[in-house]
Amino acid sequence: MQTLAFGLPRLGEKRQYKILLEKFWSGKLSEQEFHQGMKELEAERLRTYAEKVDVFPACELSFYDPMLDLSVALGVVPERFHAYKGLSQYFEMARGASALEMTKWFNTNYHYLVPEWGGGEQTPNPALIIEKYRTAREKGYSQALPSLIGPYTFLALSKQEGHPLSPSQMEEAVEKLLPTYKELLRLLINEGAEGFLLHEPAFVLDEPPVPLIGYIYHSLAGFPIYVLTYYEGVDFYPRFVELPVRGVGLDFVSNTSNYQALLQYGFPEDKVLIGGIIDGRNVWRADLKAKLREVESLHKHVKKLWLSPSAPLSFLPLTKDPERHIAAPIWERLSFAKEKLEELHVLIRAIRGESEAQRRVEASALLWEDPAFGIHPPTRERLRALKEEDFQRELPYRERSYHQQKALQLPLFPTTTIGSFPQTEDIRATRKNYKEGKLSPEEYKAYIQEKIAEVIRYQEELDLDVLVHGEFERSDMVEFFAEKLEGFAITRQGWVLSYGSRVYRPPIIYGDVWRPASMTVEEITYAQSLTSKPVKGMLTGPVTILNWSYAPPVKTREEVAYEIALAILDEVRDLEAAGIKVIQIDEPAFREGAPLKKRNWADYFRWAVRAFRLASRAKPFTQIHSHMCYSEFESILQYIWEMDFDVISIEASRSKGTLVEEFKRFPHWDRQVGLGVYDIHSPAIPTREAIEQVIEAARRALPDTLLWVNPDCGLKTRRWEEVRPALKHMVEAAKNIRNRIPSAK
Ligand code: GLN
Ligand code: ZN
Repeated sequence: MQTLAFGLPRLGEKRQYKILLEKFWSGKLSEQEFHQGMKELEAERLRTYAEKVDVFPACELSFYDPMLDLSVALGVVPERFHAYKGLSQYFEMARGASALEMTKWFNTNYHYLVPEWGGGEQTPNPALIIEKYRTAREKGYSQALPSLIGPYTFLALSKQEGHPLSPSQMEEAVEKLLPTYKELLRLLINEGAEGFLLHEPAFVLDEPPVPLIGYIYHSLAGFPIYVLTYYEGVDFYPRFVELPVRGVGLDFVSNTSNYQALLQYGFPEDKVLIGGIIDGRNVWRADLKAKLREVESLHKHVKKLWLSPSAPLSFLPLTKDPERHIAAPIWERLSFAKEKLEELHVLIRAIRGESEAQRRVEASALLWEDPAFGIHPPTRERLRALKEEDFQRELPYRERSYHQQKALQLPLFPTTTIGSFPQTEDIRATRKNYKEGKLSPEEYKAYIQEKIAEVIRYQEELDLDVLVHGEFERSDMVEFFAEKLEGFAITRQGWVLSYGSRVYRPPIIYGDVWRPASMTVEEITYAQSLTSKPVKGMLTGPVTILNWSYAPPVKTREEVAYEIALAILDEVRDLEAAGIKVIQIDEPAFREGAPLKKRNWADYFRWAVRAFRLASRAKPFTQIHSHMCYSEFESILQYIWEMDFDVISIEASRSKGTLVEEFKRFPHWDRQVGLGVYDIHSPAIPTREAIEQVIEAARRALPDTLLWVNPDCGLKTRRWEEVRPALKHMVEAAKNIRNRIPSAK
């Protein structure tokens, strides 16, 4: 038996990865210094692996994204990048003016670069990958196997003219890809590679084209390949384990179907099973005693067994060492990427009969029900006492909206924004000073109030209809609430890559979640005190808070979602009591939390919808808004409707009319919709005419009384110079349209 680990975070203990990239981009490092720095980081990572596991990947330290590495290596490079060479081409594709599209990697929070077919290929350029493999060999690690995205996953996540490849495009692409892919493997073999780790997470998606997969792997037969799958079970298990490869990896943590299939169909004697038994997605220590039993039961069916994490460790913080500020009972139970390697190490040594390791396995059983570990009896009682009516608003939408309109007196096509206004350098610096204690709480509060007052004045001058306070006190929409709620641990160095060199720190939910004190009332009521127009209370929804945090052990996500929902509900009640009439509860991560397999959707959306409804059970007179951005809504419009808000703002500017088409196909849609008429992810300023066109298109699908006008997301990342003219055009467009409708005057 052996151990294998993969996906050790690229970032490095001191965030060297981010620093190297950003220094290189800003010209502070030469290309040679950059390569040297990356080489050192790779050497450190290889050493970390080698100390703890038997087999591990080489070529893992991508300079931006592994999908991009393969695009360049295989020559899947659209024409518009051909003028660039080497690293400048690589980074032009990653982050240039017409960079490749970026989208979420399976059910993680990481974004990969989408390979683009059909735009004119170029000669394959495997130099970067080969160079990385040489680093591993130079350091003497022959047990490091080149790690690449597998050919099927590469194709399955590719696009041609903005869409996933059609079956015939796929066939064509396979024929182009296979020779270059084989050539890449051959080159690596010449460099000494003894095996390959090919990542094929797309094997776990719904209805994979099994004949095509078989065709691809038969073409690669003869190469020493280990295929890794993760994030879910593989639905074509019997065919999968028969592929002509040396070994296959299966995730035994995220699902039970892989194990059931193994029991039912057995496992071929001549192949290696890479058993993903240590949770690679969450931050909790394993009960190694239980894991040992799992290994024993796997071993009954499998001759050649390797132990591994269930998924790449990429989306975990690197190590818990710097997090000693977290209370001991929690800290002890944490296991980040390096600690997961240690768990594998202890497990394999115990299996090999080392008594010290066996003692550690014996001692690793965990008590999760320890009162020091965040148990809060009143919250548990509240959860137990929940009744069906807690998930229902008192009046149906039609009646609520009548009351709300009477109270708010809004014009047709009311204008508003999504919450945040530009977070300038000045705001960031002030928040940093405050966190470092260089600014007193009073000084910080005064500063925030000044910003709020400015933005209220600005919105009044602009003549928006529903105002916001600007979110200047928030760095991140989830972390802000996590810091104020009980049951969350916040790391200091627990950075995780979200794309390129971008990092964020997911909060860790360890215990029961509850709200010790109000979280937003002070800023919102201050903003409301400055204007007679309604100011929106601004909250992050329970599903998004859960999906962008690490979930606690033992509990179901459903339970945790309800706990968070109750805490948000408490805030809703406090805002109402303070006289706030409009409350927005953002759920941008509502769609992305859905399971990979469609057959599991109904259950997820059932509780996700209920969690939102629980959090938003406001008085009938309070207008509840929600906001979602950049997800595909088509298939989930029914669930969105069931959330039972009064108004929702959804992206519309990029997908132009398509969203509106969706509403046409959904005849019982009766809620107000905020049209995202300003694409905030682009520096372009929309013209008044363009905005009017979006509104006019929407009017063909929905009645005027249901339409709002707003940007498609928060304005946090934009500059004031862009925001001012864009919002001016937006308000003018709404007014122009009102003026054209006699009844609106
Ligand atoms: N209210 C948040 C903001 O405006 C919403 C952000 C989001 O949807 N991602 O920043
Ligand atoms: Zn958004």
